[in-house]
Amino acid sequence: MSDAPALILPEKSRAIGNDLRRRLGADKVKDDFPTITAYSVDASIYKVVPKAVVQAETEDDIAATVAYAMATGVPITPRAAGTNLTGSAVGEGIILECGRMNRILELNVEEKWVRVQPGLNLTEFNKKLEPHGLMFGPDPSSRDMCKLGGMLSNNSAGPHTLRYGSVKDNVHAIRMHLATGVWLTAEALADGDPATDAFLSSHPSLAETFAMVRKHADLIRSKKPTVSKNSTGYNLFGLVDGLEQGIVDLPKLFVGSEGTLGVISEATFKLVDKPKTTATALIHFRHLEEVGQAVFDLLPLTPMALEVMDGNTLNLINRSAHGVPADAAATLLAEFDGGLGLSITEILERVKAICRKYRLCQDPTIAVEKEHQEQLWKARNALYPTLYRYDAKKKPINYVDDVVVPADRIAELVQYLSAFFKGQGVNVAIFGHIGNGNAHIVPLLDVNDKHDFEAMVAGYHEIHQTVITRFGGSICGEHGDGRVRAEFVRKYFGEELYALFTQVKSAFDPARVLNPGVKISDTPFTEHIDYVRLSKPCATCAKCNSVCPVYDVFQTEDMSSRGWFEIVTAPGYEYLNSKRVVEACVNCKSCRTICPAGVDVSDLIMQKRAEHPNRLAGAVFAWQGMPALFEPFIKLMGRTQGLWDRPLPRRTMERALAPFMRQLASTARLPADMMLPKLAPQLLRERYAALTEEQGHRGPVAYFHGCAANYFQDGVGDAVIAVLRKNGVEPVLPRQKCSGTPIETYGHVDRVKDYARFNVESLSRYDTIVTGCASCTLSLKDYPKWFQGEERKQAEAVAGKVRHVSEFLAGEGLKAAPTRPCRKTVTYHSSCHLRAAGVSKPPRDLLKRIPGVTFVEMRDADRCAGGAGTFCVKDYATSQKIFERKRAAIRDSGAEVVATSCPACMIQLRNGLRGEVEVRHIAELLNEAYEE
Ligand SMILES: Cc1cc2nc3c(=O)[nH]c(=O)nc-3n(C[C@H](O)[C@H](O)[C@H](O)COP(=O)(O)OP(=O)(O)OC[C@H]3O[C@@H](n4cnc5c(N)ncnc54)[C@H](O)[C@@H]3O)c2cc1C
Ligand code: SF4
Ligand code: SF4
Repeated sequence: MSDAPALILPEKSRAIGNDLRRRLGADKVKDDFPTITAYSVDASIYKVVPKAVVQAETEDDIAATVAYAMATGVPITPRAAGTNLTGSAVGEGIILECGRMNRILELNVEEKWVRVQPGLNLTEFNKKLEPHGLMFGPDPSSRDMCKLGGMLSNNSAGPHTLRYGSVKDNVHAIRMHLATGVWLTAEALADGDPATDAFLSSHPSLAETFAMVRKHADLIRSKKPTVSKNSTGYNLFGLVDGLEQGIVDLPKLFVGSEGTLGVISEATFKLVDKPKTTATALIHFRHLEEVGQAVFDLLPLTPMALEVMDGNTLNLINRSAHGVPADAAATLLAEFDGGLGLSITEILERVKAICRKYRLCQDPTIAVEKEHQEQLWKARNALYPTLYRYDAKKKPINYVDDVVVPADRIAELVQYLSAFFKGQGVNVAIFGHIGNGNAHIVPLLDVNDKHDFEAMVAGYHEIHQTVITRFGGSICGEHGDGRVRAEFVRKYFGEELYALFTQVKSAFDPARVLNPGVKISDTPFTEHIDYVRLSKPCATCAKCNSVCPVYDVFQTEDMSSRGWFEIVTAPGYEYLNSKRVVEACVNCKSCRTICPAGVDVSDLIMQKRAEHPNRLAGAVFAWQGMPALFEPFIKLMGRTQGLWDRPLPRRTMERALAPFMRQLASTARLPADMMLPKLAPQLLRERYAALTEEQGHRGPVAYFHGCAANYFQDGVGDAVIAVLRKNGVEPVLPRQKCSGTPIETYGHVDRVKDYARFNVESLSRYDTIVTGCASCTLSLKDYPKWFQGEERKQAEAVAGKVRHVSEFLAGEGLKAAPTRPCRKTVTYHSSCHLRAAGVSKPPRDLLKRIPGVTFVEMRDADRCAGGAGTFCVKDYATSQKIFERKRAAIRDSGAEVVATSCPACMIQLRNGLRGEVEVRHIAELLNEAYEE
């Protein structure tokens, strides 16, 4: 291969990676450009490029990596999902990622405990617990992205900490590997018990720590933060508290230790009952100072969560977009699950009565339905990355992001902060867990600007000091110290206690290989700030990773949406040094749909592919662009499919096509056992010639059928036409070319633009353009992006008239009610491109209107099924791995039929399900629900 030297030579010079590969195997160690670039960031303001990344799968991998680090002095940084806001999961040596260790090892439902691995994602974990009526209490707002190892090491908390405490309050035991090469199971032991003494003696680092804690118990007690939460320093306070109760509380030492004392491989957690019903109240206050008293009034109703956003935060996230009144000075979100022996309804009545005492902008919004509650929480959960939308240069910077004050002084804190930042001329968002007195303070700054930089440094010292001295608070409630607060830990606790912290660090990590620079460090917080990245539009929050199907399969940052943003925007990026990742994206657009900051990673990747269009795909698209040559071939294949679509000819075909497929991608193949769609012996446009524009048919509604419905005889095109006719529409089949999605996927943007121009011209004359394919829908709605000036306006006009058939019929299009009962249990697979086009509810609404249908919402309905146009042949193996999750969800739903809205998804679903569950397009199901 021509690009071999660029890919291989640098790797040979990478001694650390090579050493580790020899010890762990090539699949688990990476040090190529895309990998070290993706792992050089987390959700903080920092960038540190590692030498190598180990993707551990077993405890032996952890032990071997730690042994190597100890032998060579190369630092090690454990990492889970990399969503911390403090720079604690980046490091200059080896990143030891445990994301693939993500299993539940043991679950005891009766006793409500679970043993887990550190790479398990919190939302996935809770989904697995849900059928048992259980959940894990602490819930950071990053719950869709973060993993249990990171939560443990940061002592994470969240909105529900008010009820359940932080991670440290929910741990029974931790298993971790120490720098000395031994494994330790840390649990609460009885003080004074000979077995405990023997255990401590067998671990000198523990014995030394506990001897020191006993000796300095008075000092530690005197320095204990008096607020409800603290994650700064080592939790020697918890050890003293334990000893006072006769417990050697080992987990307290390690929870919150940020990978600086050992590497966690397992933990045993306490679980709580998942509330059967909850309700959320959204309350907009006209006066900030009234919020504190309202919280005081609400607390006796035992809320599960109380979250506040100040008026400026509401401005920054765009009030009107979130339905926030113009005169709201603060907004409070309160969640309840009953309690005090009262029903939810009674609790809500009391909430309303309390609210009447205050000057609110409007009556509180009360949500009881799960979907409605999620909607109310959506803005809060994505608040920090949403702030990235506010300004191209001024970005939300986390450097005083996590202070805690007594809960009854939070309004005073907000007033102090507002005045302080006003004095600095800095815009700031203040929000947080008001019930705990924990405020997240996120100023918007351009760190490349001298004034802003100086404001940041001054604010860092001034605010932290004020929180300590004036409010008696803590500088960190839940995010951890990391690199950002390490400098201030000494100032917060004073020299004497800080000396004890360094003694603990030395006892466990004398060689300083475990996450140096984090928690215990005098390095100024301004070191390693990523000035380049902080002017980019991505918040590195990793929200997109939580929906990226490729990340779901590989669980590594170099194979993830966030990682790809970082890679393709990095200064050293070249297609040839990053080809394996740039070609791995399935272009499902799920990242774009979910990104709170408005970034479209898939579009960036498509732009990079456009710099190196695939030649074979280009030849195929050129052929397809000549209907006189291409269509006879399709029809011939359609007529003879019964002959060649059999095991033996398909095996021959697979072998014969293999050299061509390799030109598409090294992973591409057309497997003999893959179920292909039925090709059309007579194309849709031929079967419905009378409806074509060419034959003079005219009308206000066009049906843009796209390639699949024309070339495949899968029933979709016929059903769309039939169902439109049954609703009084005689659609026109306008002249059309491929909408462009598959062509863009292989980098041929000039052809996409030509086709877009043709289609815009052709479709401009219609009032409504109905589609039956998710990708065509999105492609047409996205056409404006290809044009400027007048052409753009024309494309925008067309885009505004595009309606997927489900959208059209769920709206005013459904003139005749379907009356023929279906009597089946139906679930819905929500095609990614249709979701990206903003069509998510109408297909479901339509299915529910078919008489006799029992609609069941499946788990993961919104996740990619892995077909993604031609991705299922470009990388069949990965595509099938993506599908495994969908298959399980469909099976668990108990549905007899899975409905979808895209012919391409139908291919993947039919191939994956092999008749186990019927696969139908929504138009087909609806069409059959009309009497003939
Ligand atoms: C949008 C957004 C919202 C957030 N909201 C909250 C919130 O509400 N509450 C909150 O507490 N935090 C919040 N965070 C911060 C962060 O998500 C949490 O701290 C989270 O628990 C970190 O988990 P992670 O899997 O990303 O860990 P990482 O970032 O990968 O790692 C965190 C720390 O854990 C260490 N670590 C990871 N795995 C191991 C292991 N196996 N052994 C030893 N050490 C290990 C790392 O070295 C690092 O020090 C938020 C972040 C974002 C981006
Ligand atoms: S692309 Fe969006 S969702 Fe993904 S990390 Fe960046 S800001 Fe977060
Ligand atoms: S388009 Fe899909 S596969 Fe590609 S980065 Fe986005 S979420 Fe991942």
